[in-house]
Parts: sequence; C-alpha cells; structure tokens
Amino acid sequence: VAARRSVICKGCWQQLRLPILLRGPASAPFRVVGIRPSRMNPNTCTVCELMFTRVMRARKIAVDVTVLFADLRGYTALSEKLSPEDVSELLDAFYDECAEAIWSHDGLLNKTIGDAVMAVFNFPIRRDGHATNAVLAARRIQQQFPLRAGALAGSQGNVGVGIGIDSGEVSFGEFGRAHRDLTAIGTVVNLAARAQSEAAAGQILITRSVHDRALADVGAATASDHVLKGFEHPVPLYAA
Ligand SMILES: [Zn+2]
Repeated sequence: VAARRSVICKGCWQQLRLPILLRGPASAPFRVVGIRPSRMNPNTCTVCELMFTRVMRARKIAVDVTVLFADLRGYTALSEKLSPEDVSELLDAFYDECAEAIWSHDGLLNKTIGDAVMAVFNFPIRRDGHATNAVLAARRIQQQFPLRAGALAGSQGNVGVGIGIDSGEVSFGEFGRAHRDLTAIGTVVNLAARAQSEAAAGQILITRSVHDRALADVGAATASDHVLKGFEHPVPLYAA
C-alpha cells in the first residue's frame, strides 16, 4: 500500500512558502519545465535537489540530523536458495518498505548500498522531532517488511532487518572524486552504521543521543555496552 503523497513540495513550502505542485492535473505546467518529485523524497521536488546541490557546491554545511542505516540480514544465504526473480523481488520489497517508512516520516532516502539503506532525517525537510521520526520509521520497517518477506522467502529461510540510528551534527555536501555524491559524512554516520552492524535481525539499536531526544515519544530503553570498530571506548546502545 503506497503512502499518501504530498500534492505540493514540502521543501519549497517550508523554505520558501512556494506552492510547487507535484501531482495532479495542475502540476502539468511544472512538469513541462522539468519540476518533478525528487527520487530521494517524492514529497520534495527536483528544484529542492538542485537548490541544495548548489548551496553545497559552494560550501559544505553542518546540519543537525538523525542518520538511519537498515540492512537486510540473511540475504546472502537466501540468495543462494531462491531464484534470481525471487531475490530481486525480495530486495525490491525491502527498498519499498524502507522508502515508504522513511518518506512517511519526512526523511531522505539518501543511498542504497548493496543490501543496506541510508536515510537522513531533518534534511531538506526540517523537523524538530527528527530523532523520533527516525525511530518511528525504523519501527514501521520492522513491522511491515517481515509481512512481505515471509510471503516471498517462504520456507527457504529467515530474512530480517537490522537497524542502527544516531543523531548529531554531520557535514552535508558533495563528496567523492570519481562520482560526486550528495551525502552526509561524520562520526554520526559512522556510529549509525556501526550500531546497525551490531543489531540482530528484527532489532533497532539507537545511541544515547537518539534515546535522549526521542525518549518522551518512543519510551525508555535499556542500554548495553558495545565495543565498536573505530571507537576507543565501549559505546552504550539502546534497543528501541
Ligand atoms: Zn521543492
């Protein structure tokens, strides 16, 4: 079931108070001049993408965001047992469920890396509760994906999703030499990725920063210390 899509661009409305129509018959004049829903968040537009790309080409900007990594577990083993069609259907279902969950909480589906997804919340659509939004999106993925995966994978084995989330300041800009890529970098990104690799299938691990910010909305959780590659001291992670 597709989530309800915004009729006007949320980014342009929030930043510029401009009603840019993305859908419906009235959006035709916008489409003629190349303004379409963004592929990273269909509730924002290609003008937003361009605008941010330009801002960032000039200089990288520091933004307070929440970064979410979701990774498909058991996929490699399963891909040896299933037909290529079923494997690609499973991967599509995973990307679909992640995209719907992320977009319905105003996040940006920044990248897909193999069988993992990276999302950023609070950019370009600003939301005070971005940590909460990321946790709610993660819960939706954990709730929805198994329903579809079960039907696809059948008795062939278990697939599940491991999710890691961190909040804080990142540098947003265009990075990379061969292929310039609009993305976030910084410790927050690394820690979110590490938390994701620690998460078991079906689990959401969040850092203290996310826990403290989202506490009032998503409830308290208990922490356990994890030794993470690249981090000198054990890091407490909370199962959300
Ligand atoms: Zn826009």
